[in-house]
Amino acid sequence: MATTERIFNFSAGPAVLPETVLKQAQADLYSLPGVGMSILEVSHRSATFETVIREAEEDLRALLAIPDNYRVLFLQGGASLQFSMIPMNLLPKGGSADYLLTGSWGQGAIKEARKLGQVREAASTAATNFNRLPSAGEIALDPAAAYLHFTSNETIFGVEFQEEPAAGSVPLICDMSSNFVSRPVDIGRYGLIYAGAQKNAGPAGVTIVIVRDDLLDRIPEGLPAMLDYRVMAKNGSMYNTPPCFAIYLCGLVFKWLRNEVGGLAQIHAQNQEKAALLYQAIDGSEGYYQGHAERECRSLMNVTFRLPSEELEKSFLRQATAAGLDGLKGHRSVGGLRASIYNAFPRAGVERLVEFMEQFRKQ
Ligand code: PMP
Repeated sequence: MATTERIFNFSAGPAVLPETVLKQAQADLYSLPGVGMSILEVSHRSATFETVIREAEEDLRALLAIPDNYRVLFLQGGASLQFSMIPMNLLPKGGSADYLLTGSWGQGAIKEARKLGQVREAASTAATNFNRLPSAGEIALDPAAAYLHFTSNETIFGVEFQEEPAAGSVPLICDMSSNFVSRPVDIGRYGLIYAGAQKNAGPAGVTIVIVRDDLLDRIPEGLPAMLDYRVMAKNGSMYNTPPCFAIYLCGLVFKWLRNEVGGLAQIHAQNQEKAALLYQAIDGSEGYYQGHAERECRSLMNVTFRLPSEELEKSFLRQATAAGLDGLKGHRSVGGLRASIYNAFPRAGVERLVEFMEQFRKQ
């Protein structure tokens, strides 16, 4: 059946975008007002695009209160390329970097870093299948580490740090891909933050990096230009042709967050409410639905849970999809179900899922 109606999209990413952003992009796509060309057609060296990228950065800076001594970069290659760029740029020869292993994405970051230098697992929650986060006491930091890397929200397992791990004077590096701009963050605590845009910030194709100036001074000479943060910073993310459309769309999302939602404290409150509805449905199901993550580590973005059997999970998915609740299948590495409820996911969709869960359980 062909449908032009929008369904409830629980995908983990690329993921739902704000409707007003989609409508704005649709309106601009044929011809940007006053420009006579689509954003897909304008030169990245034009005044038009310069305004687009400048405003995207300004709005992001305002949202996150990014201090002046941080650069904002719009890069390509996904968050996955950052797994390599970080050690290439910031793990010096003979040095060692600390990583917290809290799920598949942390694992991915460690795997790539090991190809480039010495890596220590400062803590790991693999023993309990990544259903929790390490406590402060479990984290064994190397005070001489080049940096400490962690994943603020593990998209697959559904565990989310409530606050940054203490890193002392070691620069803190965070893969914020799946909870970027979903809550206020004290940027000053970080050396570098990176996030693939395709969950909360925009479409696939652009990765945002926020990096403190003094880390740029540590970058060794001779890196390939496209992999050198300093080159990207010096050229305002336009050493080569940037992903113009993706940056434009992120810019619209940042304006939506600022002007329609009212900022990150507001979106955080909305995200807390949405997640609470779902976790209440899980907790109130007399054990029928089992959350994967321990309570205090639960993600506001990716709610992971299981049913009593794989048969029932299959049936749940089939019926949910038929009822317009799409994308609830858990990642193949953990199975079960996962409801991704990023910033732009409507509360009405969460309410619909909660009703569906109740009905399914009773039936
Ligand atoms: N880190 C996290 C936390 C993610 O969720 C993802 C993608 N789901 C990645 C990294 C990889 O991102 P990309 O596909 O943009 O390389």
